[in-house]
Amino acid sequence: MPDPTPLAQDLLQPLWQAGWYGAARHLASPNFGPRPEGAQIDLVVIHSISLPPGQYGTGAVQQLFTNQLDWDAHPYYQGIRGLEVSSHFFVTRQGEIWQFVSCDDRAWHAGVSQWRGRDRCNDDSIGIELEGLEGLSFEAPQYQALQQLCSAIAAQYPVHYIAGHEHIAPGRKQDPGPGFDWQRLQQQLGSVDGTQSWEFPPHASPPA
Ligand SMILES: [Zn+2]
Repeated sequence: MPDPTPLAQDLLQPLWQAGWYGAARHLASPNFGPRPEGAQIDLVVIHSISLPPGQYGTGAVQQLFTNQLDWDAHPYYQGIRGLEVSSHFFVTRQGEIWQFVSCDDRAWHAGVSQWRGRDRCNDDSIGIELEGLEGLSFEAPQYQALQQLCSAIAAQYPVHYIAGHEHIAPGRKQDPGPGFDWQRLQQQLGSVDGTQSWEFPPHASPPA
């Protein structure tokens, strides 16, 4: 990434084509639909996932999001057999960014959820999955990629809120969990997006 300048938004905008981020690897998922008419895309939702849980770089997350996962390949998959989900983005442990659904469309990552006084967060949010296991920490390249991605999203969509799955579906979901450093991301985004105001979860705490 070049050094941030006041022109950063202008430089980033051509990176988007029909909701696809040019700096990501694209792998189209069938699991998406249209957003509701007039949806205001103002929320970024942070998740964590790894398949099998705690194993990285297996390719199974990409397979899950494209309905290609072999449910018999691991005992854990029995519990999620038939699941049809997606996210807009997936960030590997090495900081590689994958995209599965156009941000103009509605991905299936949030489920029953509620945030900033609105429910059905899939309608008007962008979902980012970090390769990881809830409770454990994340890698420096992932924070770097996340900052780059959030800044690019902010240059293209009217995002203002950022929250974890655990915040928008409390009691039901726990990702990305206490190992995710919200303050680190907040500092990174604050130092880059001087003009962009991000509203973080009020109780996002540093890792234990
Ligand atoms: Zn999640």
